[in-house]
Amino acid sequence: MKAIRLQGPFDLRLDSVAEPIDPGTDEVVIAVTAVGVCGSDLHMYETGGIGGKFVNEPVTLGHEFAGEVTAVGQGAVTENGEPLRIGDRVAVDPAIPCGRCEPCRDGNPNLCLDHFFHGVPPDDGALVERLKVPARNCFRLPDSVSHEAGSLLETLGVSLHAIDLGRIKLGDTVAIFGAGPVGLLLLVLAKIQGAREVLVFEPVAVRRAKAIALGATAAWDVAPNADLDEVVQPLMQQTRERGVDVVFEAADAGKSVDQSFAAARFGGRVVLVGIPARDRTEFGHSLPRRKGLTVRFSRRMKHTYPRALALQEHPLMAGVLDELVSHRFKLADSKAAFDLALRCGDGILKAIITPQN
Ligand SMILES: [Zn+2]
Ligand SMILES: [Zn+2]
Repeated sequence: MKAIRLQGPFDLRLDSVAEPIDPGTDEVVIAVTAVGVCGSDLHMYETGGIGGKFVNEPVTLGHEFAGEVTAVGQGAVTENGEPLRIGDRVAVDPAIPCGRCEPCRDGNPNLCLDHFFHGVPPDDGALVERLKVPARNCFRLPDSVSHEAGSLLETLGVSLHAIDLGRIKLGDTVAIFGAGPVGLLLLVLAKIQGAREVLVFEPVAVRRAKAIALGATAAWDVAPNADLDEVVQPLMQQTRERGVDVVFEAADAGKSVDQSFAAARFGGRVVLVGIPARDRTEFGHSLPRRKGLTVRFSRRMKHTYPRALALQEHPLMAGVLDELVSHRFKLADSKAAFDLALRCGDGILKAIITPQN
């Protein structure tokens, strides 16, 4: 069967790999139906790795995915103890934490020291026709949730975890740097969480328009190389020079970190969600120190899929995941999807790859 494997920077190939057979106890095989292309996939495509992990052997990318169960191992039940059956439509949590290390036992499985994570080297992911996964990682999709939306429950989970770290209070003001899929989902979640105003910064016009459509109070352009005061000036005007209570940095973590600190109020919180391409972030020190900011780094998510799925019934979230999907590609055309997403071409929001087409 076919898989899309990363061999090095910009080297993404359609390859043949072995068919997954004989799901073991508590495992199922799924036919992968939808895979989201994520910013972290693009980092790996561009640099051949992420966060210090590099591709030494070819690796199958893809960690945002849904599929249809095609084979069921003995005793394969979901985390709720419900048996999985052939034909079930499921979203799959890509993370398999060990459950034994100190972070796991502390309730931080996203920080696990010995985990498997589909689609991050060296672990193979979902850009493949069929895949074997643990049954407990599968979340059954109701009829109202599409395969594509199912794949984006991962993106929503990442956003939910960041929102948890932001601790928005009812009536707070919020700023978001970057209105890609994660930034837009942060916007919707911030509104659900009771934010009074959500102010967005984003250089791409279609994304600013989407932010407004999803309820942003304002969405401003960020000119590259504009100085800090100039960037946050409209926000300072909007907030009467106070700044906002909570800032989410969901861009490239370049200058947007400095900008995030400038946008926060004295004593505010900043959550860093974006991953810088070169694994380095620089920022001025005196401003965040003088403001006494609380800065949280956000990594992946905890046990967030059940909440992400339940939120599909919230009126502010209804249909949003499907609306984010702007482009669809066949498995063989994955490289075109990555190239387009990398240069933010053609008004792209979220590219989905559909391995069964
Ligand atoms: Zn992702
Ligand atoms: Zn662990």
